[in-house]
Amino acid sequence: MAVSPTLHPFLTAPEIDRLITQLAARISEDYAPRLSDTGALHIIVTLKGALFFAADLIRKLTVPCRVDFVRLSSYGAGTKSSGNVRILKDIETPLAGEHVLIVDEIVDSGRTVDFLVNRLKASRPASVRVCGLLSKPSRREIPVEVHYLGREVEDKFLVGYGLDYGEKYRNLGDICYLES
Ligand code: 5GP
Ligand code: MG
Repeated sequence: MAVSPTLHPFLTAPEIDRLITQLAARISEDYAPRLSDTGALHIIVTLKGALFFAADLIRKLTVPCRVDFVRLSSYGAGTKSSGNVRILKDIETPLAGEHVLIVDEIVDSGRTVDFLVNRLKASRPASVRVCGLLSKPSRREIPVEVHYLGREVEDKFLVGYGLDYGEKYRNLGDICYLES
């Protein structure tokens, strides 16, 4: 018989909100003087996990922005990265000359961000930076720069606030860790 995994609280909704408020303030301050050419910050949201993070972050930014989405897959249905990154849904807007900010909810092995940064750079944007809500440095396989980071976390499998386990738990307001 299948045993239901246990959820342990990790980051509450108010704690997440505080991290995002700080990130949004830093990003807004940094980009305010840089957008005179392009008029807006070009945000690329990594579906599906960054859905809620991006929605909350973007609404707290005080600089103009445009939003596009990409969906990459390195995880299967389980809790381990499969190693190679595939594009399931590509961006839809040209990036040449744009200031691009990638928004990802958690940087783990670094493969997703590394793949995406390299791919986007090929379109000759004015700049590419990465904003991650969470990062697990102990799991890194490829070094990547996360310019705007909410918090480093230990090596636990997290769910909630966009993060899933086999498509479950994305809709939790808090972030929890799973123990099976
Ligand atoms: P990476 O390519 O850095 O190994 O993984 C990046 C993606 O894997 C994240 O954006 C996220 O979608 C997924 N991921 C990494 N760690 C976790 C985790 O603890 N829980 C869940 N649900 N997804 C994770
Ligand atoms: Mg993700």
